[in-house]
Amino acid sequence: PPDVETLGRCSWTLLHSIAATYPEKPTTSQQSDVVSFVKLFSKLYPCWVCAEDFQGYIAKSAPKAGSRSELGDWMCKAHNDVNVKLGKPTFDCSKWEERWVTGPKD
Ligand code: FAD
Repeated sequence: PPDVETLGRCSWTLLHSIAATYPEKPTTSQQSDVVSFVKLFSKLYPCWVCAEDFQGYIAKSAPKAGSRSELGDWMCKAHNDVNVKLGKPTFDCSKWEERWVTGPKD
């Protein structure tokens, strides 16, 4: 299996990409699908300490899926929670769209 760092980078890419392509105006079923996905992802994530902490984060801060920006902001904050735990710099969530949706302005 991949190491925890490679797994993490690939997984955040997947999670932020899902948020980046999530509808601006999701239907009720799209909302419940993405919330179920995040919860199941947190149970199946193949780094057990990571999975346990991610489940804990979801328990205290439920995934928000009312719109793309809401989901993106939730994901950014969830990622920052891990960044803090690992002593990494936090990411400015106002830059989330630029990083994951639109790309930098030049
Ligand atoms: P990553 O943190 O993987 O980030 C990749 C890129 O995302 C960055 O280069 C940056 O451009 C961007 N980015 C950074 N922060 C944000 C943000 N807040 N919002 C949006 N974009 C951002 N590792 C452990 O050792 N212990 C754990 O308990 C642990 N738990 C994890 C839980 C989950 C759910 C996931 C997906 C990963 C977890 N990891 C854990 C892995 C860890 O988060 C990193 O992925 C890994 O350490 C590699 O870090 P990195 O510095 O390459 O960048």
